[in-house]
Amino acid sequence: MGNIAIDGPAGAGKSTIAKIVAKKKGYIYVDTGAMYRAMALFIIREGIKPEETDKIEEACDKADISIKYVDGEQVVTLNGESVNGLIRTEEVSNMASVTSVNAKVREKLVALQQKLGKETDVVMDGRDIGTVVLKDAPCKIYLTASDDVRAKRRYDELMEKGVQCDLNEIKKDIIERDHRDMNRAISPLRRADDAVFLDSSSMTIDEVVSKIIELSE
Ligand code: C5P
Repeated sequence: MGNIAIDGPAGAGKSTIAKIVAKKKGYIYVDTGAMYRAMALFIIREGIKPEETDKIEEACDKADISIKYVDGEQVVTLNGESVNGLIRTEEVSNMASVTSVNAKVREKLVALQQKLGKETDVVMDGRDIGTVVLKDAPCKIYLTASDDVRAKRRYDELMEKGVQCDLNEIKKDIIERDHRDMNRAISPLRRADDAVFLDSSSMTIDEVVSKIIELSE
């Protein structure tokens, strides 16, 4: 399998880059963050608090998360409902980062991701793809950028969608989320030993895409 694994902190440009790389290679793009976000949305809707571990674990059995592709776009479904338009808020981002530390949440979603990686060639992005989910992927990338660049990218993305937000708040949020993602006990975000480190702070999208395509051949 020619799978490509892309990991890195929030706002590093993983999904933008992964989508283009997948198109160019004729692979399927799998956004694993969207699955953790769908799980977080379910937890928010159930009124569960981040510290209620038992309830979060019970929620894993009640939330059926799957993905399908509509016109080449990944659509995440939560108990049959398409939730793509509901999972990009800061509330869901923060809840996803808090609940993704849970072993049962990870077990459930990693199994789904590994199944997808076995069925077809994928470009998969997330936090533990190169280290856990697709450990045998022949091409692994650790994509990052400076805190300021990442915050500005997230800010522009939200503003473009018409979501009013504050740049400093976003920067604070992503630093907090990265800290949690990098310091959790299970599958923390880190560069796999065999992953290529790419800092995209002063690279264009085209440059990053070309570099990854080159590395994958
Ligand atoms: O990539 P995205 O920002 O959509 O991910 C949302 C959250 O989901 C991350 O902050 C992280 O806590 C969690 N996540 C994870 N493992 C992955 C992908 C995402 O723990 N493979």
